[in-house]
Amino acid sequence: MEVIDNVIEESMSPQHLKVMKALVEPKKDLDLAQELGLEDTRVRIILNDLHERKLVCYTKTKNKNTGWVTHYWMKREDQLENYTKGYIAGKIKNINHFLSKDSNDMSFRCECKTVDYGKAIEEGFSCIECGKPYMEYHDPRKIDEQVIELTRLNSMLKSLT
Ligand SMILES: [Zn+2]
Repeated sequence: MEVIDNVIEESMSPQHLKVMKALVEPKKDLDLAQELGLEDTRVRIILNDLHERKLVCYTKTKNKNTGWVTHYWMKREDQLENYTKGYIAGKIKNINHFLSKDSNDMSFRCECKTVDYGKAIEEGFSCIECGKPYMEYHDPRKIDEQVIELTRLNSMLKSLT
């Protein structure tokens, strides 16, 4: 699904998505590296990333003669939607936090400058320079950006259900 692909690429990298796409059947890391033209070490790092996020798993087979263990990596189809939803929900949560009034990221403005919450408290909520009270202030451009992003994320979430 397109949203799932987009989220894998956005949250990790285009190479992570390439590896996921290549796992149409269980494969060895070396075969993946060759197939995708990536370095072995890079593929192992990517597989570890994906494994940490529960997007891949592996089976081990041991060669009876040599004792060598080979890992066959598999895509976890059952986890794709969960991961995607979790990622989007996390981003939405961050934006809502940013947009909420009790966010510590908020700014305050008097007549001469804009300060952060800590600075406003320090000065007792009125400016030591111009003497005016600090009023809560959100940069409207920043808010617009976040609202657009929120819309994008919500429509991504919608397309999953
Ligand atoms: Zn001031």
